[in-house]
Amino acid sequence: MIRAHTIRLNPTPEQESLFRQAAGTARFCYNWGLRAIKDALDQGVAVPTHRSLRDAFKQIRAAEYPWIFVVGKSAIDDAFVNLGRAIKNFVDSRTGRRKGKKVGFPSFKTRRRGYGSFYVANDRLTVDGHTLTVQKVGALNMTESLRFVGKILGATIRYRAGWWWISIQVEVDHTPPTHTGPAIGVDLGIKSLAVTSDGEVVENQKHLTSALRTVKRLQRSVSRKVKGSANRRKAVLKLAKAHFKVACQRNDVLHKLTTTLVRQASLIGIEDLNVAGIVKNHKLAQAISDVGFAEFRRQLEYKAPAVGSRVVAIGRFFASSKTCNCCGQVNANLTLAMREWDCPNPDCRAHLDRDLNAAWNIRDEAVRLAGA
Ligand SMILES: [Zn+2]
Repeated sequence: MIRAHTIRLNPTPEQESLFRQAAGTARFCYNWGLRAIKDALDQGVAVPTHRSLRDAFKQIRAAEYPWIFVVGKSAIDDAFVNLGRAIKNFVDSRTGRRKGKKVGFPSFKTRRRGYGSFYVANDRLTVDGHTLTVQKVGALNMTESLRFVGKILGATIRYRAGWWWISIQVEVDHTPPTHTGPAIGVDLGIKSLAVTSDGEVVENQKHLTSALRTVKRLQRSVSRKVKGSANRRKAVLKLAKAHFKVACQRNDVLHKLTTTLVRQASLIGIEDLNVAGIVKNHKLAQAISDVGFAEFRRQLEYKAPAVGSRVVAIGRFFASSKTCNCCGQVNANLTLAMREWDCPNPDCRAHLDRDLNAAWNIRDEAVRLAGA
């Protein structure tokens, strides 16, 4: 199984400058390839593949772009792979092969959105404790040591919120244990972040509200500064760091929740939420986009196999909220404002918390689907 660990780096100013050049190279190659694709589309000729673009670029590189910096050819190759992926996502999204939010045609990468990133192949880097050694860049300090033991497959070095980071992909040898925990259903809510079928309620994070206020304040501060001024640049960096902090806080909450879940349960039922569809319902959209449903599911799905647990996503037409868990009666008139489940069946009259009822239904449906 492949795991990734992202670690902050402490490069020297010289190393930082090499990073900027490598990221610039990757950006240049991506844009060069995208320009060729756009030209082909304009002329109505066959669109070149990312592989043919990569080969064509290699042919002319020495003659036309002798200044180009290479931390290894992987940075260049990967830029074309990224471009190929961006085009594929766009085409698949258009033809309906890719679900979820529509993906637009790739746009040129710009330096204005940060220095960007570049790929380093595994034969060009070594890791030893807190020391990372990259060919042509030398040894540099990592703020943490690598969490996983195994073969390093490659790494991406990226600039974000004023720092450089490395994300190292490791192939981990692993035989999952047999999980003996029960099945758990999770209902992601509005009032609380999540309710499990065990009756556990994970509250929405209040500190996010104040962090988001800080973001708003810094946004105003940026817009008041003169474009191109040093003060504006400083304010933009402050804003980026505040955004980053919010992202970290959100992720932290999700990591704690998903780790607890996979440890507790051998089978985890979640709803397959179509986030794009839910956006129509504004109240629900805010809650779900705030906690990042896709990230929640991604974390569960990569953590579960490691402990021998399974994740089952329930179809989005399954009426988890509108069905009584006690008798199966459906109440189609249930609105978002109704926080309690009062069963309309006169023989049942179950009175439950709405989210708990939903979590039970999700758990039971997951068990049914898993055939367990
Ligand atoms: Zn009932």
